[in-house]
Amino acid sequence: MMSVEEALARILTEISPLSVMQIPLPESSGLVLAQDIVAQEDIPPFANSAMDGFALLSRDSQPKEVQPPRLLITGGVAAGYVADHAVVEGTTMRIMTGAPVPEGADSVIQVELTRSEEPNGEWVEILEVAPPGNNIRPAGEDMQRGQTVLQQGSEIGPWEIGVLATLGWASIPVIRRPHVAILGTGDEVIDVNEPLRPGKIRNSNSYLLEAAVRRVGAIPHRLGVARDTIESLREKFSEAIQYDLIITSGGVSVGDFDLVKNIMAEQGQINFWRINMRPGKPVAFGHIRSVPLLGLPGNPVSAAVTFELFGRPVIRKMMGHTHLVRPQVDVIVEDGVSDRAMRRHYVRARVEWHDGRFIAHTTGNQGSHIMTSLLNVNALVIVPEGGVEVHPGDSAKAMMLDWPEI
Ligand code: AMP
Ligand code: MG
Repeated sequence: MMSVEEALARILTEISPLSVMQIPLPESSGLVLAQDIVAQEDIPPFANSAMDGFALLSRDSQPKEVQPPRLLITGGVAAGYVADHAVVEGTTMRIMTGAPVPEGADSVIQVELTRSEEPNGEWVEILEVAPPGNNIRPAGEDMQRGQTVLQQGSEIGPWEIGVLATLGWASIPVIRRPHVAILGTGDEVIDVNEPLRPGKIRNSNSYLLEAAVRRVGAIPHRLGVARDTIESLREKFSEAIQYDLIITSGGVSVGDFDLVKNIMAEQGQINFWRINMRPGKPVAFGHIRSVPLLGLPGNPVSAAVTFELFGRPVIRKMMGHTHLVRPQVDVIVEDGVSDRAMRRHYVRARVEWHDGRFIAHTTGNQGSHIMTSLLNVNALVIVPEGGVEVHPGDSAKAMMLDWPEI
């Protein structure tokens, strides 16, 4: 059976980033930039004041004998306006933070280092020497015209959006979000709003996966549930192939009615369908026509865990991300792992930082049908293949599900 690493590598070689689209800047958060961004302007665009104070000639701030120099105030300049006259020797202008430095002035002294006899008087005393350039933010100090400010492939977040807005990008080229078909399978599976009938269970997987797909940043399309017949699956798949990726749950194991593999063989190809892990041995990957299909197990916990391990990286790669897998840390498994598995075991756990260490608490019964074992989980404790025992207090690796991919 294939290892988790080999399975992921085989899947990812078949996946490429999707096409580029133009998107309004406010909608770009979480997406990947599809081209380098070169500044077309200097930022700041003009030399401006970093302080509320007085614009002056630096040499006018030198004390004459022991007296602080007195300068004549000829006007003021507020942010958003340009002074209508220059500052000349012996004079000064009030200036506000962000206002353009008037012609003639080469320095700004903050208001706290000046003294005026009356609030709106004509004269101001300069109490300290203001060297040239003091409190002036030169044009182009942040970004220079022609400079590459953001690289193609960067993930856009609030701070990148701020930079792009400053440069006047109202819409930007990004790798588009994948559309993902989500298909349940099974004669026993009924919808969430139906009353339970004998032998039936509600469709939890499709809703779980829909939310998980959306959390990665893709656009989910829930296509309902296929019956366990070739005809029903064919019909659903004919709808599913209009999307960028198909994610199914159930029907990929070795039971008489596990027909997803048959459809893959009929309409595309199967790359593999078993992975040496628990929960979630039956994970199939292949194509229907040319659309990649990730067939997740039917047991809800297996579907959830295998989505985290395989579904997320696939979608992220389609979105143009290059950091695809969650980081791992060393943890102390406070309560140990009671059941031994020969396959690699991903044990649901809550990891918290405590007294300088990461401490993991597992979430009880780890059966792949125990959905409550997913609650309050932020990590998967990884127990290696081969029936390794984890006693209470042993250390192990844990994959952090709420840390950004690295
Ligand atoms: P299967 O792989 O189709 O044999 O399904 C394995 C287990 O997962 C069975 O107990 C199914 O009833 C259950 N299962 C399959 N699909 C779903 C679903 N959409 N929601 C909840 N449980 C499911
Ligand atoms: Mg089934």
